[in-house]
Amino acid sequence: MSEHILSAPVLVKFNEVEYDITVKIDPVNRTIEGKSLITVRNPRELQLMLGAAYEVTQAEFNDGPLGIGREQVNQAHIWNIPFHFGNQIQFLIRWKGTLAALDTSLDHQQTLGRPVAVSGETGSFLPDGSGWYPRVVGHLARYKINIELPPGQKGLVAGRLVEENESEQGYHASFDFSHPAEGIDLIAGPYVIETQTYQSVNHKPVQLRTYFHPQISNLSKDYLDAVKRYLNLYESWIGAYPYTEFSVVSSPTPTGFGMPTLTYLGIDVLQLPFIRDTSLGHEVLHNWWGNGVYPDYSSGNWSEGLTTFMADYTYKEQESSEAAREMRLGWVRDFAALQPGQDAPLTAFTSRMHGGASKVVGYNKAAMFFLMLRDHLGEAVFQRSIQGLWRVQRFRITSWQELQKIFEMISGQNLQLFFSQWLERTDAPAIMISEVKNIATDSGYELSITLKQSGPVYQLRVPVAIESPQGTTTHILDLQQEQQLFKLKLADKPSAVSLDPDLHLFRQLAPGEAPPILREAMINAATRTVLLSSDSGIRKIAGTLASKLQDRKPQIIARDESLSTAPVLIIGLDSEVDAWLAAEQLPAKPDEINSKGTAQVWTLARAEGASLTVISAQDTAALEALIRPLPHYGRQSYLAFDGRQVIEKGVWPMQVQKVVIK
Ligand SMILES: [Zn+2]
Repeated sequence: MSEHILSAPVLVKFNEVEYDITVKIDPVNRTIEGKSLITVRNPRELQLMLGAAYEVTQAEFNDGPLGIGREQVNQAHIWNIPFHFGNQIQFLIRWKGTLAALDTSLDHQQTLGRPVAVSGETGSFLPDGSGWYPRVVGHLARYKINIELPPGQKGLVAGRLVEENESEQGYHASFDFSHPAEGIDLIAGPYVIETQTYQSVNHKPVQLRTYFHPQISNLSKDYLDAVKRYLNLYESWIGAYPYTEFSVVSSPTPTGFGMPTLTYLGIDVLQLPFIRDTSLGHEVLHNWWGNGVYPDYSSGNWSEGLTTFMADYTYKEQESSEAAREMRLGWVRDFAALQPGQDAPLTAFTSRMHGGASKVVGYNKAAMFFLMLRDHLGEAVFQRSIQGLWRVQRFRITSWQELQKIFEMISGQNLQLFFSQWLERTDAPAIMISEVKNIATDSGYELSITLKQSGPVYQLRVPVAIESPQGTTTHILDLQQEQQLFKLKLADKPSAVSLDPDLHLFRQLAPGEAPPILREAMINAATRTVLLSSDSGIRKIAGTLASKLQDRKPQIIARDESLSTAPVLIIGLDSEVDAWLAAEQLPAKPDEINSKGTAQVWTLARAEGASLTVISAQDTAALEALIRPLPHYGRQSYLAFDGRQVIEKGVWPMQVQKVVIK
């Protein structure tokens, strides 16, 4: 699943677990009553657990009493079951309790970070991690669930809808999940259901549904059509969709989850038009990667990277090569903006729970890993490997190592070095053109290119673009040492050589290669802030703006202090900024934003050290108006604001490493 907190489950031949649950929820009174028959085949020692919020009213073990599993209220119920002879054991547990009130003011991170079962008339969400049902700890499980709800409410879990009926007494639905699943999340709400059928490549019907709150039920058709498009795309690319349904479910909180057979997205999120073109496809694809082939959380989660590569990045490739390059540039630029200590090897990434830095590695670097793997193996072999991964590992916990084995088996290549250097190391290689020489020969030209890389060395296939009056050709150079000389025989006279201009390698951008963006001054803890104004009122507002941008107390230095190599943030009124730039012999306000709106913000690359970010406002009010909106524009290089409104924005072009040949 895309964003879940899990105790790492293991798929083993013992303790094969199956739940048969009946649960009755009343969202008005927020009560829950449940009964579960738990069957464990080939039992060994095991632990059963139920959350502290519930009271156990019956607990039996193979028809004998089990005890309630705790000594005090407010403790989780824990049953440690010793080794038991026999082919199977069964538990019967009945429990009841009150669910926490739904709090729609929570944001996505808070919803994720809070494994609490909540309920209310506008929605109920019982995440697996909340312990809302008694579960065998650390084991995948198959399950059957009967859900009972009062009239007007509908509910679901991941799985096949076996039966459903609605009457004056209420709503009842039963679901069956016949593959080993990581856990059960239960969702309910005042839903309007729309249904369509999709024919899979196996000619099996797949039931598509929207469970939408009434205020957005008009969006159903668009979503169902979009889901069909994605199923079509990924079935032809990978293999048949592994389930019998897919549902898009609205949430009263601004969240975004993917689970097998469904995605749970905030009402506000669903109304954003681009969600259908991006996030929805990402969530549909998780039914193959994540919920179809399970990542092995103990050795790193590869599924976000592969899903990002085959969804988000693929949509950019379909749009244009410029859009795809822009996304790659964003990935390496965000990596370059990480602070020391924030980088981690890909094998350490488990989920997105740990903030922005883990996204930079776990999603972006991992997606780039798959791009480099495709470049390395070629499109056709990569494609066959993807299909092989699906065929062999479906519904199995799969480590990076097992993934490597599949790619090796299908390509016939040893990929050990490739995998280990990209997965086990932090950092990224810094590559430079250190020398270029061209000599005329009898048959044309011999171009010598010396490449350098930082140690310890990576094994890299470095694309270099060679320009000549006849056009540009790309050559791949196999760089295996810290410094290496390559000789190319050319028919046409070369005029320039540039290094990886299309960003096909995950690497450290050279100083000045990356266009500076606001984010550098925002996230680097070493950033120094200069407040140009001497007026105490303006200084106060500027100080607030700086602390909101940096999300911490800014380190303010005097305006005449010399600038260090750390990023610098300059804030002042127009005349003060103009005078300061002139005194520092820096370029004036750029043409892109000059004299537009009431305030301008831009970055400047510096020869020595990190970038400068300048904020210039016409007056106090214009400065104050930036406090709320500006922190949202970290990925921009320049902006002009009219009050709080952005009227111009953009990113400076990348400065490709290029050597001109005379
Ligand atoms: Zn995801």
